[in-house]
Amino acid sequence: MRQGSIPGAHGRVRPLSLLGDPVLHAPCAEVTDFGPELAALVEDLFATMYAAHGVGLAANQIGEPLRIFVYDCPDDDDVRHVGHVVNPRLVETDGVVVRGPEGCLSLPGLEAGTERHDHAVVEGFTVTGDPVTVHGTGFFARCLQHEYDHLEGRLYVDRLTGWRRRRVLRRAARASWSGR
Ligand SMILES: [Zn+2]
Repeated sequence: MRQGSIPGAHGRVRPLSLLGDPVLHAPCAEVTDFGPELAALVEDLFATMYAAHGVGLAANQIGEPLRIFVYDCPDDDDVRHVGHVVNPRLVETDGVVVRGPEGCLSLPGLEAGTERHDHAVVEGFTVTGDPVTVHGTGFFARCLQHEYDHLEGRLYVDRLTGWRRRRVLRRAARASWSGR
């Protein structure tokens, strides 16, 4: 992405992968080619995230099983964080564990109280291969942990137990987008 350009302005809005699609339920592969196709994928991720009014999006949510995610997300102090991370590693989570409402573009219209650490640090690379470190607190820390989970083949529903898990899965099964 060129400096000064609006993320996603050159991207294509792609169809979203939904709960049950195998691409969402398996770990993604490391990115090894930092060429123009990767930059185009980041643009598509931004374009698709903005079109769906999301705050984060992982590549497997548009059917590309690669370790990359994008975000445009506020933290609890209303500071806006915009960026992307290639081959992210979640190197630190600490602070209190907070249960808060969490949704996902792969389960449209649903949300559930999900436990996340209040602080998270992700290390990875930009599309041009430069190292990057992202610190998040509050809602943005939640976003980083959520997107990182996607690349490991996990959805927020996989972190739920008991009635919270049963309720969101029941609502997903009944949803208009559900294949069942
Ligand atoms: Zn998600």
